[in-house]
Amino acid sequence: MTHKNQSVWYPFTQAKTAPDPIKISRAKGIELITQDGKVLIDCVSSWWVNLHGHAHPHISKRIYEQAQTLEHVIFAGITHEPAEQLADKLIALTHQIYSKCFFSDNGSTSVEVALKQAYQYWHNQGQTQRKKFICFEGGYHGDTFGAMALGKSSRFFTPFESFLFEVLEVPYPEIGQDLKGDISDLELKEKESFDALKKIILTHKNTIAAMILEPLVQGASGMRMARPEFIKRCVDLLHENNILVIFDEVMTGFGRTGTMFAFEQCDIEPDFLCLSKGLTGGFLPMSVTLSTQKIFESFLDDSFNKAFSHGHSYTANPLGCAAALASLEIFELEKTLDKIQSINKVYTDRISDFNALCYVEKVRIQGTIFAFNIKSDDSGYQAKVGLKIKQEAIDKGLLLRPLGNVVYLLPPYCIEHGDLNDVIDKILTFNFF
Ligand SMILES: *Cc1c(COP(=O)(O)O)cnc(C)c1O
Repeated sequence: MTHKNQSVWYPFTQAKTAPDPIKISRAKGIELITQDGKVLIDCVSSWWVNLHGHAHPHISKRIYEQAQTLEHVIFAGITHEPAEQLADKLIALTHQIYSKCFFSDNGSTSVEVALKQAYQYWHNQGQTQRKKFICFEGGYHGDTFGAMALGKSSRFFTPFESFLFEVLEVPYPEIGQDLKGDISDLELKEKESFDALKKIILTHKNTIAAMILEPLVQGASGMRMARPEFIKRCVDLLHENNILVIFDEVMTGFGRTGTMFAFEQCDIEPDFLCLSKGLTGGFLPMSVTLSTQKIFESFLDDSFNKAFSHGHSYTANPLGCAAALASLEIFELEKTLDKIQSINKVYTDRISDFNALCYVEKVRIQGTIFAFNIKSDDSGYQAKVGLKIKQEAIDKGLLLRPLGNVVYLLPPYCIEHGDLNDVIDKILTFNFF
């Protein structure tokens, strides 16, 4: 079943010690089928990108049709229908908060675009001293240099630290055992974070360009969840102090947290929204950075100097746009938001099974994300217990990818009740030691 090719350099992998990768030849719905015919349930939506299931016929059909009409064209001085339709659709879906949609290729580039636009927004108005960015400890925003700087505390980027620009870090008040009732600990943690943010704003005032955050759930650092009320308080404070706010919804976007976008649960209007992963339903690499009219207007001028001088070869690729439009149609056709609610209901029905386990802690749910920690002294991304669970899952027909000692489910929305309950039953039989 496993397979090693000598030519490929795999991502986030220590090739010297990693087990050989599993070769997948086909996929359908929630199932990945290996070269030798074994079925694995994709419990992580293939690194959080898949929405409606693998090889969804509606999306593949639209890509095929688009490929026969216009596969790609330069996107400067030229435009096309799929890009215009998608931009209109995304602006409507995000309640007209945004007036512009900038296309790029992946989550990291959508973050780079937001960082550059936020900085240049101030620069274009002569406020060149506004160079600093605020982030939450534990945030992850991608692997390019700007994104790495903001995600320094994730510890994925230690070799590059001397290259990364300075960031102002705020402690993150993660929901934990408080979920079971007593929230006084959480309120205390939130107060400490909020006070830290206040102090940073007071100290660095007019030198801050923006704050970036993953709303409601920090994904890569271990599905760490925070309350919407807390996010709202922070954003309100930032806006009162004239600091721009970037929501990195690369993972949380398109239904993952229960609503179409996480920001909708926080009752605020971020200045930028970064979307990728689920944008094309998991078919093609594409991302967008949405921004408000206020941001856009600061780039207008008679000279090119104030323009946003950024763009990628495959910007607004028509195939990606067609896939994204098809994926958004499926939300209507298949009543996807209802499916999301029923996934959430299965989780809430089963949470007590996990709370009863003595080796498990911090069992938590947000929308279609279910996560818990295995009590362990070894809790980093490379924690041994995570590697062991990954192997045990494969033996039982599940694709899981624990983040250190954090085990989570983030399935495609097409998963049926019965299958989701089977997955949970299997996980409950794992040997966690
Ligand atoms: C995955 C992720 C990114 C980076 O996206 P890529 O497509 O992998 O570059 C950025 N932000 C968040 C919150 C993510 O989960």
